[in-house]
Amino acid sequence: MKERRNTKKITIGTVKIGGDAPIAVQSMCSTDTHDTEACLMQTRALAASGCDIVRLAVPDMAAAKTFAFLKEHEIRVPLVADIHFDYRIALEAAACGADKIRINPGNIGEDAHVRAVVDACRTHHLPIRIGVNSGSLEKHILAKYGAPTAEALVESALYHVSLLEKFDFTDIVISIKASTVGEMICANRLLAEKCAYPLHLGVTEAGTAHMGTIKSAVGIGSLLCDGIGDTIRVSLTDDPVEEVREAHNILRALELEETGINLVSCPTCGRTQIPLIAMVKEFEARMDAGEIRTDRKLRVAMMGCVVNGPGEAREADLGIAGGKDEAVLFRHGEIVKKVPAKDAVNALIAAINEA
Ligand code: SF4
Repeated sequence: MKERRNTKKITIGTVKIGGDAPIAVQSMCSTDTHDTEACLMQTRALAASGCDIVRLAVPDMAAAKTFAFLKEHEIRVPLVADIHFDYRIALEAAACGADKIRINPGNIGEDAHVRAVVDACRTHHLPIRIGVNSGSLEKHILAKYGAPTAEALVESALYHVSLLEKFDFTDIVISIKASTVGEMICANRLLAEKCAYPLHLGVTEAGTAHMGTIKSAVGIGSLLCDGIGDTIRVSLTDDPVEEVREAHNILRALELEETGINLVSCPTCGRTQIPLIAMVKEFEARMDAGEIRTDRKLRVAMMGCVVNGPGEAREADLGIAGGKDEAVLFRHGEIVKKVPAKDAVNALIAAINEA
């Protein structure tokens, strides 16, 4: 892992993005923004699942009022208003309590409109996220490059940035999203060299929970390994709570989470003499059900055999390794005790909860 890029730290409600702030997980409501009750329920579900920032689409003035409703109902998770083209909706969302505005200043017309949005954001202490994606490149940039290449996406992002900087506004987060993973990685690497603003990472139109998670893990994960990225969204054609879960899993896989269990388990082989696959599934289900403490950072191993298990999982804080109808519980590679295989998951969970 490369050292994290030093970016400008910005504030969005109660959350910081950039600098040394933890990588923030974002998602977006899939509910109709006019349906205030549905948005309230989904925002609460997202916040409860560990979402740090929730975005809502704001297609018109009426939808902007939902921010006021959510704030009145004690929603504390920062809320982002996602606006296209009409700067007056941005002003309304800012007045109604949005914590960040996502708008591309190049799309809202004359300078006076950009200035009005900048002034409103300054008054309410709101950052602006510029979001560039391959489907919405400016015509002159597309004509120059002939296709939405990484260079074209970066030029577009920096063009929007310049329109805000013109009014001395620098509380900016940038996202560049492309639906091919390789292009998204290249574009963000290029952008990271050219500015110090925090970057929001995501693969747009990534697909269903399974394939979309794979694409996101490759795209977001590669950049995080490069030290690039300050906030992430896993876009899935699914319940947004799933997006949050998979975003945390990506962070956990890279050991970037400050708490939680990073589960290491072997693929099983001819040496395995315990039902390891079923045991790992049971462990995960009980973790999802909240039976296992996840308020500290732990690496937990579940290995099929004692021949290689404790050794291969030497880095684990705690683990089990199977024998014949029994398992050993080990801590930092040292065997603590033997238990019957049927009790092994319980013994592991008890040891984690006591640790
Ligand atoms: S830990 Fe043991 S059972 Fe698991 S794959 Fe390695 S050798 Fe096979």
